Amino acid sequence: MTELGERIAARIARLGPISLAEYMAEALTRPAGGYYMAGDPFGAAGDFVTAPEISQMFGELLGLWCADTWQRLGAPEPVLLVELGPGRGTLLADALRAARGVPGFPKALHPHLVEASPALAARQRIALAPHEATLGREPRWHASLGEVPEGPLLLIANEFFDALPVRQFERRPEGWCERRVALAEDGATLVLAPGPPSPAVAALVPVPLRDSEVGSVVEVSSAAASTAAEIGRRLAAEGGVALIVDYGHDRPRCGATLQALSRHARRDILEAPGSADLTAHVDFSALAEAAESAGASAHGPVPQSGFLEALGIRQRAAALAARADARQAAEIDAALARLTDPAGMGGLFRVLALTAPGLGVPAGFEAASFESASFESAGS
Ligand code: SAH
Repeated sequence: MTELGERIAARIARLGPISLAEYMAEALTRPAGGYYMAGDPFGAAGDFVTAPEISQMFGELLGLWCADTWQRLGAPEPVLLVELGPGRGTLLADALRAARGVPGFPKALHPHLVEASPALAARQRIALAPHEATLGREPRWHASLGEVPEGPLLLIANEFFDALPVRQFERRPEGWCERRVALAEDGATLVLAPGPPSPAVAALVPVPLRDSEVGSVVEVSSAAASTAAEIGRRLAAEGGVALIVDYGHDRPRCGATLQALSRHARRDILEAPGSADLTAHVDFSALAEAAESAGASAHGPVPQSGFLEALGIRQRAAALAARADARQAAEIDAALARLTDPAGMGGLFRVLALTAPGLGVPAGFEAASFESASFESAGS
């Protein structure tokens, strides 16, 4: 057990069981001992690898998508370039490098990075340093989206929403109960235990899932929904777009997806809080609904593979490979396959665009790019 785990156990001994969402928030972002707060969990030697760390192509294409969208918005100046959970800052650095050639775009940008971890913010600062002179204003950091000033938005979030706390509800013979983190009889080990059934708990389960059979588990993230609502409110009031990339499902569904990952292997979620990443699948319909009820429009989600292909990832890979040696060309090929394989990241990861109302379909979301997907959803 970690020191943070002992503190959580002591608190439960004193005050009683806590929700999984409280546990997750403590384990990930508590200033003392939270997983993201100290170090750098990314890369082959770390705990997991994200798309921008697999290839520069990912950030480059997102940067060009932002520049294209900015032009469609009528080239507002300034425009806030907001990234939620920028990790090492790789995506933003690649995006800014690629978008340099678009006249007027870099100078229109006011970058705002939303990052809970001071250690990662320091890394992001280093990654952005070479681009600062091209920007309209030096980048600013915030602990939450609420601190970002108002203004037209270009917002990016890659693998941010999966880190937001979820609660789990379980259908038991006596009714819907919340799964809570409690103490085992030894008074030290953390265990999952159902709380009492209540209509208040049942009311938190999405309507289409309320009649699920006994034994079903449903995950709900109020942090994800309120962040999406805040994005939607800003888009409706000030204009702009948001691009959310993550793994998850398009419709509400049963299943406990919360998992702990350390050194690329799955761990018990309660075993050593602070030492492993905790993530849960994102319910994209919940994000879209929250943003729409705040006045924004939603497009997608579409699979990452189709989105990146529509933006020209194959052409970009070919252009990079033409200037590379044989070993580098093989790496580019492997990265392309990893990002677009429909059976891997390309299918598991989805892309959702939120826009100001009436903006039209953003690049990469045109129905023609997803004929096979719409074919399937038509039930044929
Ligand atoms: N987007 C990056 C990193 C993804 S990991 C990439 O694709 O590589 C999740 C990121 O979100 C980290 O930077 C983490 O510190 C940050 N983060 C997690 N929870 C957060 C929260 N509640 N508020 C702000 N940042 C958070």
